[in-house]
Amino acid sequence: MGFRFANAAGRAALVAGDDYYDLETISGGKLSADPMAALGEVDALSELSAGLGSQTPTGKLADITLGSPSPRPLNSFGIGLNYRNHAEEGGMPIPEAPLTFAKFGSCICGPTDDVKLRSDYVDYEGELVVVIGRKASNVAVEDAWSYVAGLCVGQDISDRPAQFTSAPPQFSLAKSFDTFGPMGPVLISPDLLEDPNSLELVCEVNGEIRQKDSTSDLIFDVPMLVSYLSNILTLVPGDVIFTGTPGGVGAFQGKLLKDGDVITTSISGLGQIENRCVRIADHSRADVVPDQLKKVLGID
Ligand code: ZN
Repeated sequence: MGFRFANAAGRAALVAGDDYYDLETISGGKLSADPMAALGEVDALSELSAGLGSQTPTGKLADITLGSPSPRPLNSFGIGLNYRNHAEEGGMPIPEAPLTFAKFGSCICGPTDDVKLRSDYVDYEGELVVVIGRKASNVAVEDAWSYVAGLCVGQDISDRPAQFTSAPPQFSLAKSFDTFGPMGPVLISPDLLEDPNSLELVCEVNGEIRQKDSTSDLIFDVPMLVSYLSNILTLVPGDVIFTGTPGGVGAFQGKLLKDGDVITTSISGLGQIENRCVRIADHSRADVVPDQLKKVLGID
């Protein structure tokens, strides 16, 4: 069982090898072409995947532009300081509960979309992303994987001045500028992964490795996050959780994103996303960089 799910140029699709299969077509119109509706049909997605061998592929993945597997989540979360080495590089205490913020749904974009920079202090954060597949309320940790449609690769792009404009810092807006949530390329259901709790994550900028870690180092792992959030609000199919980033972000190395930089993020078993940075505006005059950020970045 299990499935590989994609947003093929706006239409829900299943994936096998290099091919994709339009979901509405192969289900004889029973399932919606809308990725958000299709994500609520995880059992049907598994059944259809098992029979893909007898279907004609709609086309090759290489010939289309993929969108986010969940392009319009009702709820979209980010988790801060969820790897010990990242909390330590920022001199922050290890959280005792998931440090949760909103990545507003409008920031979500596709696996090859450009990231639009508005300042000199925009940062990359390679992350494992969870997409919910069943309505989840008060879920126990041991049952949590069954509510997950799948996993994919994501970037929690962060505008540090917007984050550190106030004290304590505010995460939600700083990480929700348009294009600040690339994710994809394909959503892989957890039963297709040998060990969904232990995946290798690598984030490179222009080919230089900046972050490399295993998701087994997450302080709050996927089942804990799904359980924790579902005990506060009801999660629905398509909801997205950016699970946090390991050590190696740009702010602590003085290596922030510039016009033309290419961010490549990969996770074992999930593939990779690649996003080019495009500078579209300048909101980052040095005199408005807040003192708290100057301290973090080591700027006078
Ligand atoms: Zn993050």
